[in-house]
Parts: sequence; structure tokens; C-alpha cells
Amino acid sequence: MTEQQILEILQDVRHPGRGDKSVVELGMVHSIDIKEDGVSVTLAFSKRRDPLSEYLIGSARAALVRALPEGMKSEVLTTVIEESAPKKKNNTMDLDFEQVKDIKHIIGIASGKGGVGKSTVAVNMAVALARLGYKVGLADADVYGPSVPLMTGTEDTAPNAVEEDGKEYFLPIEKYGVKWMSIGYFAQKGQALIWRGPMACNALKQMILQVIWGELDFLLIDMPPGTGDIHISLVSDVPMEGAVIVTTPQAVALADVEKGVNMFRNPSVNKPIYGLVENMAWFTPEELPENKYYIFGKGGGIAMADTLGIDLLGQIPIVQSIRECGDSGEPAALGSRPDSLAFIELAKALADKLD
Ligand code: ADP
Repeated sequence: MTEQQILEILQDVRHPGRGDKSVVELGMVHSIDIKEDGVSVTLAFSKRRDPLSEYLIGSARAALVRALPEGMKSEVLTTVIEESAPKKKNNTMDLDFEQVKDIKHIIGIASGKGGVGKSTVAVNMAVALARLGYKVGLADADVYGPSVPLMTGTEDTAPNAVEEDGKEYFLPIEKYGVKWMSIGYFAQKGQALIWRGPMACNALKQMILQVIWGELDFLLIDMPPGTGDIHISLVSDVPMEGAVIVTTPQAVALADVEKGVNMFRNPSVNKPIYGLVENMAWFTPEELPENKYYIFGKGGGIAMADTLGIDLLGQIPIVQSIRECGDSGEPAALGSRPDSLAFIELAKALADKLD
């Protein structure tokens, strides 16, 4: 491996906030250290924090892992280049709450495990709240599988970066009356993001705190599935007011929901849970909207909510159109079908609790 070859690999790492130029062109490759069994690349960032720093580090790691021969290790380090002022701490760590100070309610949408429809519920709830007249934003914090760009038909858009008081911020994408932000906007198509724990946490915080949200009634945060350090860090680093937990009705889901509930009740987190959303509560065929088939059993959601001492905030049926709408980028909550109205009811229930 030569330095030239590594530079070629890094040509693929592009900065979407700066005209999609590569980190090589932007002069951000500070040093390259090639050893027999591995390569270490150091990226340089200016003191002024770069909202995409975590994304670029992740992309550089991914590019190296992809291109290096098997058995070669790779690491990406960072250094902060001083312009003139004395050295300051890491450029992503000094995010403050300035950009979220005009948001009335910051609510986490969580689930004990993946695949229960958390993102579907979050996106539709955001659209439904907007239909009810609220000012709404949604931050997609599901760094491992960001689905908001696809579900809202905004995947070909990239948020603009703007500078305020010498700091760089992102403008959210506006569509369907909602302000959207997702790490997915910065990923190249088909490229998986590789994160280490602390990196994922920083990227998440940037997607929430380094965004010009303006005045909002609700900011929903589509949290990563499951419960772990990343969640605890997210809840403590962002002024989240409380949470909504999404589940499916099967009895086997109870243990996962319990984990989610316990996380928010953990004394170090200690946030209220506004309720449980029972997704896929029953199946309704598109052509027979009055028919309900309880394929996962009836009453699972209410039983879980009772056992855990939380409210059942709403029930959403399984309807083919909910999935189709998610895939086509036009959320079901925009329509007037029974499933659309179920999301409106859910949004009303949340708003009534908080307003
Ligand atoms: P999660 O965020 O929990 O991983 P998603 O929201 O991505 O789950 O949903 C997983 C899949 O299930 C998606 O294809 C989505 O369209 C589909 N889905 C979710 N909820 C419903 C529903 N109520 N009816 C039909 N399909 C649904």
C-alpha cells in the first residue's frame, strides 16, 4: 500500500456540506501512516466545529474497510487544526441547547426492538401533528437504519449548511408541513455507515442539536431500536421531555417493552413515558375496512400497558397501504382512510397529554 493508493481510496469520502468535494480535495487528510499490517489516517478539522465530522470519520472508515486487502487493519483519527485562537476541546462535543430552546416538547419515540414499526409511527405521528396545526420536526436518530428519507420521499435531498456566529448548522428539509432531519441525508446510496459507540452518539447529537429548528411545538426523535448505552447517552445529552414506546401486540413483545420502559424509569434517565402505541393491533384488508382480524391476538397492547402502569396511547392496524405509503414516500397519515385517521387519533392523544 502506498500513500497515493490511500489518497485514492479517500477520494470517495465526500463532504455533502461542501459541494460534495472529497476530503482529499478539501485538504482534510492530515497524515497517513502505513504499516505492514494496517493503515492509520488522520483527518483534520478546523476549530469551528464541522456538523459532518462524525459522518466523515464513519465514511472514511467504511471506505478503508471496503478497499483494503483482507487482514489489513485501518483506523481513522482526528486532529483539530487551530486557526489562531488557543486550543479548544473536541469540535463536536461543545454542542449546546441553543437551537432547541424554542421547542415546546421534545419526545423520544422508542421501541424495545427493531421491526415493530417505530419509524412508521414516528413519521406518521409527525405528519398527523402537522395536520392538526402544530409546528413539528422529526429527527431521525436511528443511525443504524435511517428510514426517514425513504418514508418521506426526500432521499434525493441534502440539507443546506449555514453559518451563524461562526458556527455551522444544518437547515432541516421541509415537506408535508414537517421539518425533517436524518443522518440518512448524508450517506451515499448503498453505503452502510460504520459507527463506533461514541461516534454514533456524537452523530446523533449533531442531528438534533446542530439543526436550525426554529420554533416548534413538537420535535419527535426517532430513536435507535433497543435499549443500550447509546440511548442513555442520547436521553441525557438532549433535553428530551419524555417518551412514547411502540410495540406490536404479541405477548412475547412484553419483555422488550419492559426493557424500554425500565430504561426511561432508570434513576439516571428518569423521564416520563406518555404511553404505549400498539402497532399492528389488528389486520384490516384494504377492501374491507370495517373488518378487523386480530392475527397477533386481541387486547395485547392494553394488557401490556396495564402490566407496566402506562397508558395505551393509540392503536394502529396493519394495512397494506401503510407499508406501501412508507415505501413510496407519502406517509399514510396524509390520507383520509381509517388507518390515516388512526394516526390522527394517536397524534391528538399525545397532544392532549402535553398541551
Ligand atoms: P422499525 O422502525 O421499528 O424498525 P419500521 O417502521 O421500519 O420499523 O417498519 C418495518 C416495516 O413494517 C416497514 O416496511 C413498514 O412499512 C412496515 N409497517 C410498519 N407498521 C405497519 C403497519 N401498521 N401496517 C403495515 N405495515 C407496517
